[in-house]
Amino acid sequence: MNAPTSVAALAPTVKLLIGGQFVESKTTEWRDVVNPATQEVLARVPFATAEEIDAAVASAQEAFKTWRKTAIGARARIFLKYQQLIRENMAELAALLTAEQGKTLPDAEGDVFRGLEVVEHAASIGNLQLGELANNVAGGVDTYTLLQPLGVCAGITPFNFPAMIPLWMFPMAIATGNTFVLKPSEQDPMVTMRLVELAMEAGIPAGVLNVVHGGEMAVNALCDHKDIKAVSFVGSTKVGTHVYNRATLAGKRAQCMMGAKNHAIVLPDANKEQTLNALAGAAFGAAGQRCMALSVAVLVGEAQQWIPDLVAKAKTLKVNAGTETGTDVGPLVSCAALSRVEGLIERGIAEGAKLELDGRKPQVPGYEKGNFVGPTIFSGVKPGMSIYDQEVFGPVLVLVGADHIDEAIEFINANPNGNGTAIFTQSGAAARKFQEDIDVGQVGINVPIPVPVPLFSFTGSRASKLGDLGPYGKQVVMFYTQTKTITARWFDDSTTSHGVNTTISLK
Ligand code: NAD
Repeated sequence: MNAPTSVAALAPTVKLLIGGQFVESKTTEWRDVVNPATQEVLARVPFATAEEIDAAVASAQEAFKTWRKTAIGARARIFLKYQQLIRENMAELAALLTAEQGKTLPDAEGDVFRGLEVVEHAASIGNLQLGELANNVAGGVDTYTLLQPLGVCAGITPFNFPAMIPLWMFPMAIATGNTFVLKPSEQDPMVTMRLVELAMEAGIPAGVLNVVHGGEMAVNALCDHKDIKAVSFVGSTKVGTHVYNRATLAGKRAQCMMGAKNHAIVLPDANKEQTLNALAGAAFGAAGQRCMALSVAVLVGEAQQWIPDLVAKAKTLKVNAGTETGTDVGPLVSCAALSRVEGLIERGIAEGAKLELDGRKPQVPGYEKGNFVGPTIFSGVKPGMSIYDQEVFGPVLVLVGADHIDEAIEFINANPNGNGTAIFTQSGAAARKFQEDIDVGQVGINVPIPVPVPLFSFTGSRASKLGDLGPYGKQVVMFYTQTKTITARWFDDSTTSHGVNTTISLK
């Protein structure tokens, strides 16, 4: 825990939300929320005590008794109001996000907007939470299903999308009739809390949404809590695997969306200019801190000649604070992230990769203390090198070569991760082969960051995901509900008696 400085001691505190009240934590453990472009302390976030976490779960448990029976139209209307409030406050939300996380203002608006899409989806819950009915499955017998809420659900979110990912979770959980305890990232909780305030303003009743802050202890307490029925996690593979094992051992449903190493295949027939733009945007945008960032490009055949053009394109990107107009690459979230990324670049050099473009220590006038790394490109990269094996989570693109598409597909499928991927080509046949044979959750065809809209669900293969069902879309309705199947026969006085039936057949 970083000790509060004298400036930090004056910084505002981030509140907990328990039982409909925004309250000051009684904890003695606090962490500073720091602007990554300036190192200014923006706020202090508490690491909630065990009693506070219990109180949040208890309030959600109590609220569930009435919320689960609240009319589906009443639930939907809260999210209609909520989407309007988010739109009205978009500029303020984006500014908060940029201040504490570093991404550029337009990208921060994108972060909020991709979450807003899920709120809009939650507003159509009436169409999503429909059961099924089969008429006359036997004489006078109907079978139908109810999709009933589970109870108290919990969500644990990462630093890199502090608006979108909380909005992946609590709107759909609450719209389906559950109550919720959210544990945002301790690195940038302020925009999340502003979104939570707006959700309460939209009419979410007291106790239906609760927020606790903290780190490992808070997460473990939620995974273990006897009254929590489901845990949704987004973050690193290491923590997500721990959360999945701990929550499922405690008998809960769990879905964990985790780390990535996203590869793009570039075929020589691709539109060159569009492809170079797409690669640069997807590798270096958000300073590479996206789970769907393209961090490996597999250049096939003559596309390997494009390296100088790619380097030239990357050099055109402007590194600066996210608040400055025209910035392409903002700072990394923390000093720790900066030294980790710089360390991995050093290891890439030491392990024999060719550094085509070195983005370390860029000059950023006015923001000399910022956590900046500019676009960095390595070629000649191989599995076994740290720069390939690890998720760098910085603006670093590694290049590998392949002779043909089959070799490229095989290479990608051999990587443990399966979050996102893309192919750049003008060949429909090549694209179709790719979509059929690649073992990755999100697949882009000339689309570098194919994050699905909420009509679909976010997915993930292999080490990038644990749990069967994804966040948002139709899958999350199944995740947050229990299907109950009713088989019913109604008698009236004229119904002929079949006598005693000692078989399993419905007559
Ligand atoms: P992280 O795993 O460090 O933190 C995620 C959450 O877990 C935070 O709320 C944090 O407080 C908590 N946490 C941290 N250490 C913990 C521990 N030891 N025990 C229990 N809880 C702990 O992840 P991050 O650095 O915030 O986010 C970046 C990671 O998230 C990257 O790996 C990225 O790929 C991944 N991510 C994945 C997706 C996806 O959909 N697959 C989306 C966004 C981010």
